[in-house]
Amino acid sequence: MTNLFVELSTPITGPYQQPTGLFINNEFVPGVDGKTFEVINPSTEEVITSVHEATEKDVDIAVAAARKAFEGPWRKLPPSQRAVLLNKLADLAEAKSELLASVEALDNGKAYKMALGDVGAVIATLRYYAGWADKIEGRTIDVKSEMFHYSRREPIGVCGQIIPWNFPLLMLAWKIGPALATGNTVVLKTAEQTPLSALVFATLVKEAGFPPGVLNIISGFGPIAGAALSRHMDVDKIAFTGSTFVGRAIMKAAAESNLKKVTLELGGKSPNIVFNDADIEQAISWVNFGIYFNHGQCCCAGSRIYVQEEIYDKFVAAFKRRAEQNKVGDPFHPETFQGPQVSKVQYDRIMGYIESGKADGATVVTGGERHGDKGYFIQPTIFADVKQDMKIMQEEIFGPVCAIAKFKTVEDAIKLGNDTFYGLAASVHTKDLSTALKVSNALKAGTVWVNCHNLLFPQASFGGFKASGIGRELGEAALDNYTELKTVHVNLDARIE
Ligand code: ADP
Repeated sequence: MTNLFVELSTPITGPYQQPTGLFINNEFVPGVDGKTFEVINPSTEEVITSVHEATEKDVDIAVAAARKAFEGPWRKLPPSQRAVLLNKLADLAEAKSELLASVEALDNGKAYKMALGDVGAVIATLRYYAGWADKIEGRTIDVKSEMFHYSRREPIGVCGQIIPWNFPLLMLAWKIGPALATGNTVVLKTAEQTPLSALVFATLVKEAGFPPGVLNIISGFGPIAGAALSRHMDVDKIAFTGSTFVGRAIMKAAAESNLKKVTLELGGKSPNIVFNDADIEQAISWVNFGIYFNHGQCCCAGSRIYVQEEIYDKFVAAFKRRAEQNKVGDPFHPETFQGPQVSKVQYDRIMGYIESGKADGATVVTGGERHGDKGYFIQPTIFADVKQDMKIMQEEIFGPVCAIAKFKTVEDAIKLGNDTFYGLAASVHTKDLSTALKVSNALKAGTVWVNCHNLLFPQASFGGFKASGIGRELGEAALDNYTELKTVHVNLDARIE
């Protein structure tokens, strides 16, 4: 296949031009090795199209383009102009919201209305970081009168960014927003399961007026293009979102190459703790959203649910009714809440966990089976009476499957909540302010929600304690991950003998 654009169609937009090339230097180009790979529609298991695949040589070309842009026009551009460009990109994305969301729903399988929500968050993230572009400041440091000391924050340089398939556009925005606002250039690799929406987004980059090479977007496989990016000697920083397993490989590649800076946003097994005094109806709705939003394919999914003993039976019965109301099916149906899992690999992995829960003797309250006979759909699944050491309570499933257990006291809840290798997020449901604060402060997690779950805002940082990652995304904290701090000492009239 040599076409760099193909005509595809979505139920919302009708026919549109889908780019398939690698986006390097503001142009779509084929891969040097001429390889392509198929993109599957998870709702139908059919091939949507094929896209060009980046191999090591293409990574070299993209990194060289990003280097040239970094040392040239991008570095010289006043920061306020970076804000203008990011705002323009956000405006263009807003104008194309329906197309971007439709392509996301087609390729990833998420419900169209949820994809539209993701695009809204993409726009908000780009605007938030546009606001920071000309507010990256250093300090003066008072040490002695014969000297003048100051610090400045400088861009790191060429950033490699590797994103997952669960929020293809939103993860792109979380990554490029702070990187471009602070003056870096980027080579971003999308996940092989979901390359399409980012390629549509790439058409807006040139239109917004970014100089060639500032933002390059490539499709390709993790062990080939992803590994080449993380090992590259001319990449100054690598940012990754994905599994803990691959996170380790990326850190190792960085250590073994040029010790590039590393930030990682990894897995989770987030506890959702419900106390006796919680508003039970609201708690159930948030717990339901916490686990089943995005088909359970969220790193911060509330997949471990601990319920205080007095309300346990009532909670489980009511949660079963709530989960059974979630409409599973065609992402483009207006009432759909849950579409298919992203791929056959993920479908099989999740079904394997469901089998292990059954084999270990946990109670299947609802679900536990495939939904329908075409596409990678899985019924929303609740396991109750789950023991702390069962696999379904310990390992990240990344699907619509949760594990419920009982607890007695506040101390028990904290102990159970923290009994995990991860530390990405947690939530607490209670009307008692002191319980809420005591538990929130004691949980080892980068984000704690009180009486809600899965709410993220561009202004508020997100990231992991423990094995859930290194560094923070979103908010002001993300800027630190994309700048180097330089200290300058100026001798005014200190004399040396
Ligand atoms: P999942 O298991 O959910 O597919 P991964 O962590 O494997 O998640 O993938 C997340 C991203 O990491 C994808 O873009 C994928 O291509 C990339 N990736 C996978 N393996 C590697 C690797 N060895 N080096 C760099 N990137 C990788």
